Amino acid sequence: MINELRDEKPKRRNKLSLTPAPIYRCLRGYAFDPILSLDPETAFINEVVFKIRWDDLEPRAISNEEPALENDWRKNPGLGPVGEYVEVVDYDPASNAFYAPINLNDPWLLGQNGLPPSEGNPQFHQQMVYAVAMTTITSFERALGRWALWAPYRGSDGRPDQFVQRLRLYPHALRQANAYYDPKKIAILFGYFPAKPADPASTLPGGTVFTCLSHDIIAHEITHALLDGMHRRFIEPSNPDVLAFHEAFADIVALFQHFSFPEVLHHQIGRTRGDLSSQNLLGELAQEFGKASGRYGALRSAIGQFNPETKRWEPYKPDPGALERTLEPHARGAILVAAVFDAFLRIYSNRVADLMRIASNGSGILAPGALHPDLVNRLADEAAKAARHVLQVCIRALDYCPPLDITFGDYLRAIVTADYDLVPDDDRHYRLAFVDAFRRRGIYPRGLRTYSEESLRWPEVQEPRVIAQALKKIGQDLLAEAYRDTPYYRSREEAFNRTHQMRERLHELIEQRFNTHEIDIEQHKLTGIVLTAKHPFFDEHPHNGGIEFKDGLPKFEVHALRTAQRATPDGTIESDLIVVLTQQRRVVDPQSGATITFRGGVTLILNAYTYDLRYAIRRDITDDTRLNNQLSLSNTYGSGSIADTYFHNPPGSQNPFALLHDSNS
Ligand SMILES: [Zn+2]
Repeated sequence: MINELRDEKPKRRNKLSLTPAPIYRCLRGYAFDPILSLDPETAFINEVVFKIRWDDLEPRAISNEEPALENDWRKNPGLGPVGEYVEVVDYDPASNAFYAPINLNDPWLLGQNGLPPSEGNPQFHQQMVYAVAMTTITSFERALGRWALWAPYRGSDGRPDQFVQRLRLYPHALRQANAYYDPKKIAILFGYFPAKPADPASTLPGGTVFTCLSHDIIAHEITHALLDGMHRRFIEPSNPDVLAFHEAFADIVALFQHFSFPEVLHHQIGRTRGDLSSQNLLGELAQEFGKASGRYGALRSAIGQFNPETKRWEPYKPDPGALERTLEPHARGAILVAAVFDAFLRIYSNRVADLMRIASNGSGILAPGALHPDLVNRLADEAAKAARHVLQVCIRALDYCPPLDITFGDYLRAIVTADYDLVPDDDRHYRLAFVDAFRRRGIYPRGLRTYSEESLRWPEVQEPRVIAQALKKIGQDLLAEAYRDTPYYRSREEAFNRTHQMRERLHELIEQRFNTHEIDIEQHKLTGIVLTAKHPFFDEHPHNGGIEFKDGLPKFEVHALRTAQRATPDGTIESDLIVVLTQQRRVVDPQSGATITFRGGVTLILNAYTYDLRYAIRRDITDDTRLNNQLSLSNTYGSGSIADTYFHNPPGSQNPFALLHDSNS
């Protein structure tokens, strides 16, 4: 029975119906988490309707076996909502029970926007996880102009990577105050736990808290999965910023999604009288989790925090020294989140400056009392626009990052360049807002002397360089035909498989054409990897410096190949082709005797029509200073809690993307 269901092709549309498929599916859920529904002030804004792109959801059979944790976990059928991108599997290992899956195509549920929010109904939990997951995926696809792909399932014994169509979501996977993305299983595990509040008035002691009911936690974890699908090397902590970046980015997406709920936005703008730098729900993450796990406020905040000594909420002050002192990834990531949120606040206040002048008769000081509803509407409008732009640029900047060993400074350069490509004329000073917010937190890109926009932008590749010309030729020969039809792939799987073939072909062409000593020296300057045995690097380093060879040539990888579309302000559509090359060295650490992997590589951004090389964002494989920094980092944090969670990740330890690395203690 299960087999039959599995093999059956999904029915996309009722053949007898002339009505086209709907565009959206509306589903009710919490804007934040259940705790806000207990507070009379926030209860009425906490229930929102998620408008999700229509995805035909197939009801699936229930298997009696535990479907995902065994070796053949991919072969077993999914359960709860199963769509194009995600599948909800509601298995609770602690009680060895399946919860019956919700059928979102049930007419009675279609007719009332899904189940009403409820903490006690597991089917609603499935609906909530599905709704927020799809909302987050859509934010990504909209910003990048391409399909979202999950990290591939890595075939063991040298088998090729396998396409993973669906991310698995387990709403009740753990009995603990945690939730995490598992990059090996391509799954997200949500936990639940009894509340242990520091302040019993804030939440019910002993009541159960479900992380799968928190918009922020779901969005955060889905973002980890999306980021891992794009940048698989960003889970390797080669410098203290890498994992902190993963955490920060996941928080940034969750935060800016708050601004897409109009009711919440209007309410909070009214309550703060338009001043979003004062305490408000939009800038805070995971209220219930924070309070139920013994904190006084939200788990994390972009703007300030509750001071347990003074018992008051206090705004953060930018501290340029904090970066040096703070190494735990969530705490370090919070510095980046604060910088991005600060840039947003600046952009927002610039956008509303005229409205505030009008509303205050030029004095800048608003009259006491509630704001006029028209003013609230206009301010909310501006806040939503600014938040959309910031979120879009933050996501697009991922295409402008080096493929590994990312730093916060690189991310600033990526944001500035991505924004420049989108809106070359910065008449509203958005980029200045970012640059200033980062500078005030001591976030400096490596090797830059000035903080001007021109110097922060990645340098454009100057033609004609031999290598740029060679790449252009490869592009014309190989990629032209293949990439012209990218937007027309019929499925994400086709896109994945086709890209895989293209990467193999590109690898061959690079090997064939970049094989002379002169070209290798030239291309190394641009890409940071070495392609011939004659490169001086091999004379200077015994054992080939840890670079493996195959058929007499240094091994390298065409790590990724993707396109990005962008609409320019004058209305034309530009398309970029992104080619990522990487290489690795296996190096024995003289101090610990352990072997570490040190990587180099490049993100090449080419114009997808002309194949002109625009940017080359590289990490040099021959850079021994960078290697030594990585070695000393792995020694400094070789023991203790950060190491267990983030740097060595021994079996049995928590996953690198746990919501907390030391939960509920
Ligand atoms: Zn995380």
